[in-house]
Amino acid sequence: MSKRDFYDVLGVSRGASPEEIKKAYRKLAIKYHPDKNQGDKESEEMFKEAAEAYDVLSNPDKKQRYDQFGHAGMGAGGGGPQGFSMDDIFSQFGDVFGGDDGMFGSFFGGGGGRSRRSAGSNIRIKIKLTLPEMKAGVEKTVKYRRMVQAEGVKYATCKQCNGSGTVRRVQNTFLGQMATNSPCPVCSGMGKMIESKPKEANEQGLISQEIETSIRIPGGVAEGMQLSMNGKGNYGPGGGAAGDLIVLIEGIPHDELTREENNVIFHLWLSFTQATLGDSVEVPTLDGKVRIKIDAGTQPGKMLRLKGKGFPDLNGYGTGDQLVVLNVYVPTKVNSEEKALLEKLADADNFKPSAKEKSFFDKLKDLF
Ligand code: ZN
Repeated sequence: MSKRDFYDVLGVSRGASPEEIKKAYRKLAIKYHPDKNQGDKESEEMFKEAAEAYDVLSNPDKKQRYDQFGHAGMGAGGGGPQGFSMDDIFSQFGDVFGGDDGMFGSFFGGGGGRSRRSAGSNIRIKIKLTLPEMKAGVEKTVKYRRMVQAEGVKYATCKQCNGSGTVRRVQNTFLGQMATNSPCPVCSGMGKMIESKPKEANEQGLISQEIETSIRIPGGVAEGMQLSMNGKGNYGPGGGAAGDLIVLIEGIPHDELTREENNVIFHLWLSFTQATLGDSVEVPTLDGKVRIKIDAGTQPGKMLRLKGKGFPDLNGYGTGDQLVVLNVYVPTKVNSEEKALLEKLADADNFKPSAKEKSFFDKLKDLF
């Protein structure tokens, strides 16, 4: 089953503000909420689809990744919102419907007393890749430090919320009784508080640890892209969800080849005689050397295309090419013997460009 575009799912434009995205999601969540559509499978699917779209578009990192890579980018690094559970969806509601108006709680009899645990923060690292690695994809092992739950931390149940993590407030209004759930202010929604902890642990019961993890980087990534690995960031306090590891891709320049979107550019310099008489020449590609044929009478500025020697498109839309731009080297100094030979050719008709050829050269000049 192919996935619908997240912007289409929420019915917002690509330029929609966070506020518009939240509003659109609220509307859909109310419309398709399971409490209102008991047992209706289709509503449940719509509900989940909207929640998944909101999860991505409301998170700046995920949104940026989605805008760049589409759905393909969401699975990179083993993360992504696949397998979105109802619990995940309800945990979003604290942000969407919580806060000042608490309307979700009142519409649906209280989101179920689910506690909203604090999530751990994200960690950002950089990875340097060569052009061949960006083309073929690569598995990299990285080491970094993250905050994890310290051993030996003792917790006590929060007395304020009795461990539920939420406090419920019932108000009498002209519509009748309205109940609102909000995170417990004493334990910040954890439902428990630290009673004692080892001295190495910080106030949140976390401790810094070096970890080593392996990251699968898909072929086709480019400099500046970010991959996000869910749950590889800092742990949240008290068993809250871990943040993400965000990996920024940096490029290592290649000696001879440059990248332009999914194409590879190579400038090949030919001698005057090679261009005139033709030759067979080896050129570097990202997969090693390739021999190409230079036709007799090749003009500077001509471009040869090595099909499929570029980068694969991350979204699966084909593969780029290598473009070989041909340049002709004009000697900057000649000895007396060479000079005498060239002077013999100076008046040869074949050495003078015709009017037709001149206009062809002018067009090439505009291209490069
Ligand atoms: Zn509490």
